[in-house]
Amino acid sequence: MSYSREYYQKNKEKQKEWNRQWRLKNPMKCSASVVKWQRLHREKYNAYLKKWQQENPEKFKALKTSYRHRHPERHRAQWIAFYTHPENKKCSIEGCDNIGQRCHKDYSKPLEIVWLCRQHRGSIGG
Ligand SMILES: [Zn+2]
Repeated sequence: MSYSREYYQKNKEKQKEWNRQWRLKNPMKCSASVVKWQRLHREKYNAYLKKWQQENPEKFKALKTSYRHRHPERHRAQWIAFYTHPENKKCSIEGCDNIGQRCHKDYSKPLEIVWLCRQHRGSIGG
């Protein structure tokens, strides 16, 4: 009896430690709760993200590079649009006086830019 109890206690500690290690190694596996937390504490999360970016400039740079890597067409189109049209133009939606952003209907045609403000941008995306 005392033997099995001891064994159980020992195992419990082992299991606890194992769980802790697993969580440390697999933070993304708990992503559902992370997303929930982010929604509830958006400002706190944004502040944390900003702090993280400042404290980990190299990691942040790597993250940005990987975004570029995953969306090369999009990045290229945005880059070309910026260098060929550095000036700011008004939103191309009639009657809208907001400053537009360089948008693309087709990323394979980077010179075909549509100027849309943030408000109207959602209508075509990109
Ligand atoms: Zn607009």
